[in-house]
Amino acid sequence: MKKQQDLQSVDPQIWQAIQLEERRQRNTIELIASENYTSPAVREATGSCLTNKYAEGYPGKRYYGGCENADEVESLARTRVQELFQAPFSNVQPHSGSQANMAIYCGFLQPGDTVLGMDLSHGGHLTHGSRVNFSGQLYNSVFYGVHPETQTIDYQNVRELALQHRPRLIIAGTSAYPRELDFRAFQRIAEEVGAYLLVDMAHIAGLVATGLHQDPLDQADFVTSTTHKSLRGPRGGFILSKNLDYEKRLNSQIFPGLQGGPLMHVIAAKAVAFGEALRPEFALYQKQVTANARALANNLLDLGYELVSGGTDNHLLLVDLRGKGVNGKEAEEVLDRIGITVNKNSVPFDTESAFVTSGIRMGTPVVTTRGMQEEDMARIAEWMDRAIRYRDNETELSKLTNHIEEFTSQFSLFMECPQQTNNYSKKGRN
Ligand SMILES: *Cc1c(COP(=O)(O)O)cnc(C)c1O
Repeated sequence: MKKQQDLQSVDPQIWQAIQLEERRQRNTIELIASENYTSPAVREATGSCLTNKYAEGYPGKRYYGGCENADEVESLARTRVQELFQAPFSNVQPHSGSQANMAIYCGFLQPGDTVLGMDLSHGGHLTHGSRVNFSGQLYNSVFYGVHPETQTIDYQNVRELALQHRPRLIIAGTSAYPRELDFRAFQRIAEEVGAYLLVDMAHIAGLVATGLHQDPLDQADFVTSTTHKSLRGPRGGFILSKNLDYEKRLNSQIFPGLQGGPLMHVIAAKAVAFGEALRPEFALYQKQVTANARALANNLLDLGYELVSGGTDNHLLLVDLRGKGVNGKEAEEVLDRIGITVNKNSVPFDTESAFVTSGIRMGTPVVTTRGMQEEDMARIAEWMDRAIRYRDNETELSKLTNHIEEFTSQFSLFMECPQQTNNYSKKGRN
């Protein structure tokens, strides 16, 4: 009986697409900086019967009956994320990072208020004021960026813009910035102009959780994040704050302000991921993520590639391809052909369109989850360089495709406990 009800029998087309996706994830070197592969436990919770449950409201204050198990799940998720980031307040219901950010805008700003965020083309996010996003349509956005020489955030310029435009909200947070953010500098500026400070740690939450990046909780009025990037949870968002005065407003902004029923299956998976992140193995994992990013950066520098800002402090790097006679779109396509997945990305002051771009963004959260280490990064850099150099040579490209298929077959999707290694010698260029 069971056989006839499983996905393969009920919906062979969707089943087939999922099989192919699993094969794609297995057979490629996934270097998209915003992605990760979740643990089997996280996936089990995501696929659980909690998807059937309506639980509008919050633990102990629901608008539906039968919520006792949902309450337990959400309370555990909150306790764990609060322990992980030492935050007295959390809301784990945002369906995504974007919804978490929207709650801050809607809860604390009036339409037309000024927001100072990072320029999308310098590494910011759509929800930080882009014209094509609600944040740029409903609010008056002003952007800061990186300094043309150092390619790192120009805090002097952030301050000047803040003094000139008097924003109600300043956002510190990035999607394609390889360096550590100085939350104290942002706080000083926000204080000086009387703005709220939102830290959006979507990309770096895993690093923050393990002490590999400055912690924003003491500086920010609100911290938003995704759960599915370096933090390695299910697709979703959350909000934290140290200021309990904001608790009521933040909660009511998520529900009923922006969302209806919470995704309880996803919240259960968030709880599992927060639990995993509290374990010592997770700190080793994150350390390896940053070691792998440094190794990849150093290998690419050795091969003559230019990196925005010259290196990386975190889990990602931005390769400026302008010296290599290839644009971001072409590089993404040829790498896709051999089984290396990256995304084309504008570099600061890019002269190519956002559809073409002059760069690619690469991150190490997935390859590290699969158990790859520094010596593997050297191989990946080499294959990548060959693919770009021999992009018109079919024989060479198919050779590379075979190498990568053989290589990836040695790794499972999720390695239970990454081994710590100390065999990487820093070259001191970062
Ligand atoms: C990824 C990201 C988000 C949004 O996440 P979604 O879950 O895709 O909505 C928000 N802010 C930053 C900085 C991000 O990198």
